[in-house]
Amino acid sequence: MKVTNAEIVISAVSQKQYPGDMLPEIALAGRSNVGKSSFINKLINRKNLARTSSKPGKTQTLNFYKINEGFYFVDVPGYGYAKVSKKEREKWGGMMEEYFTTRETLKAAILVTDLRHEPTKDDLQMYDFLKYHELPVIIIATKLDKIPKNKRAQHVKRTKQTFEVAPDDIVIPFSSETGEGKDESWSIISHYLKN
Ligand code: GDP
Repeated sequence: MKVTNAEIVISAVSQKQYPGDMLPEIALAGRSNVGKSSFINKLINRKNLARTSSKPGKTQTLNFYKINEGFYFVDVPGYGYAKVSKKEREKWGGMMEEYFTTRETLKAAILVTDLRHEPTKDDLQMYDFLKYHELPVIIIATKLDKIPKNKRAQHVKRTKQTFEVAPDDIVIPFSSETGEGKDESWSIISHYLKN
């Protein structure tokens, strides 16, 4: 996909702030610092629209990025950061629940995971949460460039096995450094936007 326009429309904390124009949406989830902003920026050819290395624990919002006036990427706040208070965690949970249970325009979710490591308990919980909401999930296994070529297949296999990926879900090895996996990501995203 050729991205000609990308802009942040709103950082929302509750349903009444979500955009009302009924465009299809793809949500993006992932552990804090996993490389989610880098993934978004790479896909839309922008250095810094989705802010990288944003401090975990800062104000948590759902960030709606409008792409080519045709659909939204919805960046949901990262999880798995140990130093977040119980109160913050509950707020995060409430916001996620509200969004994923009510959003009718949501077509699929992207779950960004680190290909170097075995998916964490938090990653698996997030995958189950998304499947519970009956969403197709695209797993982006990022930081591919950090793994030697002869070990890549093995890492991909482990990621698939640990998530116990559903037959229709896909794992895409990806690198924000090299752009590997970018075309495949767009192709599957386009597929879900049309359905
Ligand atoms: P976020 O908190 O999930 O949005 O993570 P960021 O996108 O801010 O990335 C966290 C760190 O990982 C940053 O220092 C990025 O430069 C680095 N990073 C992200 N993706 C990749 C990748 O594909 N390859 C490499 N080598 N580093 C990456």
